[in-house]
Amino acid sequence: MKINKILSILFISFLMLSSYCLAMEKATDYKLDVTFIPESSSMKANAVIKFADGLAEGIKVFYLHGELEVSSIKIAGEEVKFQQAPVVYAYEYSLIAKQVTFTIEKPLPSAELRIEYAGFFHPSASRSASDYMRIDDDGVFLRAFQYSLWFPIFLEDKTDSYATNFSDVTLSVPEGFKTVFVGEKISETIKDGQNITKWRVSGINLIHLQVTAQRYKVLERENVHIYFYDNEKSQTAAEQIALLVRQLVKYNSKYLKKNAKTDSLFILEMPEYGNISAHNMVGLTSDVFQNINSEEYPKRTLAHELVHPFVSVKVSRDDPLFCLAIEGFPSYFHLLGLRHFSGKEKYNEFMVRVEKWFFKQKESGVDHRGNKLPVEKPFMKMSADDYSTYKDGYILWGKTKLFFNYLLREMGEEKFLVFTSDLVNRDSIKEKEFVSLLEKYLPSKKEQIHTWLYTNDFPEEFKINAGK
Ligand SMILES: [Zn+2]
Repeated sequence: MKINKILSILFISFLMLSSYCLAMEKATDYKLDVTFIPESSSMKANAVIKFADGLAEGIKVFYLHGELEVSSIKIAGEEVKFQQAPVVYAYEYSLIAKQVTFTIEKPLPSAELRIEYAGFFHPSASRSASDYMRIDDDGVFLRAFQYSLWFPIFLEDKTDSYATNFSDVTLSVPEGFKTVFVGEKISETIKDGQNITKWRVSGINLIHLQVTAQRYKVLERENVHIYFYDNEKSQTAAEQIALLVRQLVKYNSKYLKKNAKTDSLFILEMPEYGNISAHNMVGLTSDVFQNINSEEYPKRTLAHELVHPFVSVKVSRDDPLFCLAIEGFPSYFHLLGLRHFSGKEKYNEFMVRVEKWFFKQKESGVDHRGNKLPVEKPFMKMSADDYSTYKDGYILWGKTKLFFNYLLREMGEEKFLVFTSDLVNRDSIKEKEFVSLLEKYLPSKKEQIHTWLYTNDFPEEFKINAGK
């Protein structure tokens, strides 16, 4: 054997070995028991975690919010030695995570890991104000992977997340606070001055495990649970929201994803920047929540957050369709339900306004506040890392609406609804499949579809009133 062949084999085996040792474990089940202490901005917790293939030998790594400290790791009752140190981590609102490492000497096919940890969740000093995550006197405001790592995450930052199970979650807050997690609420009891809720959720993506606790009042309407602040305006709004939600969910389950997981829905009044959607939880900022019926904007916000599970189709992070699917689909498809209930006229007027805003921004390069916009990119030239840059901006927010509205016009309503159902009822989709699907429903517009997806061109015929 030649020396360079031997060397290359050695090198390849080294690569395989190192990637084998550092391969992240895939957690298949979490049991969490967490006590939140708003008074001192802190929490203490223990997590019991199971893995798909147990634990192979090698170095294991997980991450937690940077202010948390692990006090013990056990496997089958035995203490495991570990190291912990702060590291830079992009998928944390503080940009710092606690990296915890430990070594498994021999394979443990059915090992359960028990991790005890505690610490603070102070507000962000690093990222934007929209990272409102924290624990303080107002309550608990946490999201999960990508934002606030309040339970151990076996993933590097900037990597694809995955779905897992939380079979047993117990959350304690001082009496007076009410907690909302995701999934199914099993019970709520008051004991020793603590409000203790039990939850369970399966097949949930690690980015959706939000937890919120505030001094809420609650309105229950069938399977819709509305958590609002204790004042008259919020109380009235809660009733109106309950009605609107039921209408929209009925429409979405008929025309969008048929098996969307929305068995019970939790709608929460939130502080600023709290317009979020996580599995079966929707957060609306107070401003949006209280003005639900006086303006179209809050309705659109509610409809947008509600529609996420009804248009969620899995797309790999390295697929060019990623950004359009994750935020572009909801940016348009929430309008269908509103179009149905508020009328086509309102919808059309709104689309004309969207087109005006879009051109104003495209031509001026600045947004309505005068801030410089990112360089325009075609839908299919965006990478997953472009997501936050274009999420709220004129591309995923605005151009997406114009694109799907063009499809609606060209296909006609009936065909467009069949196309939509064909699109959102898939488990997963790739760029090529998306293009074929569009070409299948609009065979005479292949060139135009290409222009929409792969260029920044916006020919006259794309305009809403073209040919009129
Ligand atoms: Zn969204």
